[in-house]
Amino acid sequence: MKNIILIAPPAAGKGTLSDILSNRYNIPHISTGELLRERSYVDDEFGIDLLCMMKSGKLVDDDTVINVLKERISSSDCKNGYLLDGFPRNINQAYSLDNILSDVGLSIDYVIYLDIDYNTALERITGRMSCPKCGAIYNKYNMLRKPKVEGICDRCSSPLITRADDNEDTFKQRYDSYIECTLPVIEYYRQKNKLAEFDGRLESEQIADMVSDILMR
Ligand code: ADP
Repeated sequence: MKNIILIAPPAAGKGTLSDILSNRYNIPHISTGELLRERSYVDDEFGIDLLCMMKSGKLVDDDTVINVLKERISSSDCKNGYLLDGFPRNINQAYSLDNILSDVGLSIDYVIYLDIDYNTALERITGRMSCPKCGAIYNKYNMLRKPKVEGICDRCSSPLITRADDNEDTFKQRYDSYIECTLPVIEYYRQKNKLAEFDGRLESEQIADMVSDILMR
């Protein structure tokens, strides 16, 4: 059983690292951003509200995110653990997660923190493209991460998209939310001795190997 949290500023490489770890350990990668985005594509009032909120770069309200997460981690594929990407994002969510897990006799095993500076993150955001079908992530400015055919997914051949919130203005709002709301979460897990810190500028495979060393201990 491995219950792992991944925390990082936007564009630090959480998604890519999560994919590698999720394949290596055969546990689901649960991204609250992805769960919320999927819900936001439903053409109803809630979907439209969600889309507006996410486009602005603001955090979605805690009750909504916690309900979405609770439902997801109660699925049968989560019984051997999971990798949480993008949750908890504020201290209230961290307390809620503790309560949800302790109700079923569980706790978080590891918290992986990827750190990256503002300018590197901004550069990554403006080049990021993703596949709406299989979730693969690319970067048009990075030789190692460019798709083989421009705008087309290497894995499943679907046309790639740029997320509505991947622009400079929204990025600033997302980064500010991170500093204000998520840094206290990092401190919370540091105090609990659960935190393992990595340099987000390294290649994801390299970080994944270092994370594996810790998970094997
Ligand atoms: P990034 O980490 O690059 O900001 P995500 O896909 O994790 O991208 O999140 C996209 C958006 O989804 C966030 O800007 C926010 O609006 C919403 N979101 C995701 N996770 C949470 C969360 N735990 N609490 C509140 N809002 C969230």
